[in-house]
Amino acid sequence: MTAARADFLPFALPTVAEEDVAEVAEVIRSGWLTSGPRLQKLEVEFAAEVGTAAALAVNSGTAGMHLALAALGIRPGTSVITTPMTFCSTAHVIEHVGCRPVFVDVERDTLNLDPEQVAAVLERGEHDVSAIMPVHYAGHPVELDRIVGLGRRFGIPVVEDAAHAFGAAFRGTPIGQVDADDPLRAVSFSLYATKNITSGEGGVLTASENLVRDSRLWCLHGMSRDSWQRYGPRGSWAYDVVVPGFKYNMTDIQAALASTQLRRWRAFQQRRTEIAARYTALLADVDEIETPVARPHVTHAWHLYPVRLRLGSLALDRGEFIEALRERNIGTSVHFIPLHQQPYYRDRYGFAAGDFPVTETEFERLVSLPVYPRMIDGDVDDVVASIKDVVAGHRRVAS
Ligand SMILES: *Cc1c(COP(=O)(O)O)cnc(C)c1O
Repeated sequence: MTAARADFLPFALPTVAEEDVAEVAEVIRSGWLTSGPRLQKLEVEFAAEVGTAAALAVNSGTAGMHLALAALGIRPGTSVITTPMTFCSTAHVIEHVGCRPVFVDVERDTLNLDPEQVAAVLERGEHDVSAIMPVHYAGHPVELDRIVGLGRRFGIPVVEDAAHAFGAAFRGTPIGQVDADDPLRAVSFSLYATKNITSGEGGVLTASENLVRDSRLWCLHGMSRDSWQRYGPRGSWAYDVVVPGFKYNMTDIQAALASTQLRRWRAFQQRRTEIAARYTALLADVDEIETPVARPHVTHAWHLYPVRLRLGSLALDRGEFIEALRERNIGTSVHFIPLHQQPYYRDRYGFAAGDFPVTETEFERLVSLPVYPRMIDGDVDDVVASIKDVVAGHRRVAS
């Protein structure tokens, strides 16, 4: 029996350094606490990193998705295609604009929205679909050329939930890169504390220049001038309210943290990739555990490292497996409880067991292992040793 770690290994921790603290302190001392020059600087830096024309920094990834749907003018009463294998806010924003989420099942290997099934739903034409919202699950890009191609063919926008995907790329193109005049794309990143780069709470939306401009309007009450312009040296008291916008702006305090994180993202990404590779190598001989894939044409952001249990060869279920790891001081999580099984969506749309078979089957055996830049190789080895220990004690013996 392997000895458990002495201290608990949390499932996720942010990577915050003195340079983050110093820069945030400087902003607080400057006296400009809300959206101002640091926000503008962040938007320019972020757009440059993903190689795109325009970016809008907001107060969450959820806000970015909601703004995109509002600014795109998605019509109430229509349907938006998304995946059930996601965080609830992906579907909530569809509800917020008065639309119906149409869940489509995922691919078994990547757990990403299945383009074949999206095509089938669009071709059948039984829903008045006004947008597609794929999620780059765990940081593995969806088959973007297929999904974006379907959007173009049916003349509907694609709004990507890129909460996991900062640093990811599809066929060499960074996730978030949108042509300056492409009216049918928007990409929302989350800068929540556990995400690949963070501002505590925050998000960034990338899109065409026009769509970013329109989203910026929706982002701050629908006022045609933001407060920085109003209260700056050339400011004026006058403003026009042109749409019933939201209060979704990011502060300069958050923007300063996002900027210093952004400077270090390549090192973060490299460390996540190393940890993922170490898990994959060390778990290769554990038949009871299936490790995640990375298709050859993508760069995986490794926001998550979700393994799947081969339940047929184990004498414990996923919940018991998680508990056994917790007893060995290893924190894990599950991404995600399928949305069609959540009471709100299940009851509102009358979903039943078996509606999304891949999502349901894979959910039962999913466990996300810790992966974040602060982990040392010894932490990874502890996780693997604990998994091997649990598996060895719970092999299902053929009868
Ligand atoms: C974290 C997350 C979000 C929400 O991001 P916030 O910044 O917390 O709003 C949305 N979708 C997915 C898949 C996420 O993991």
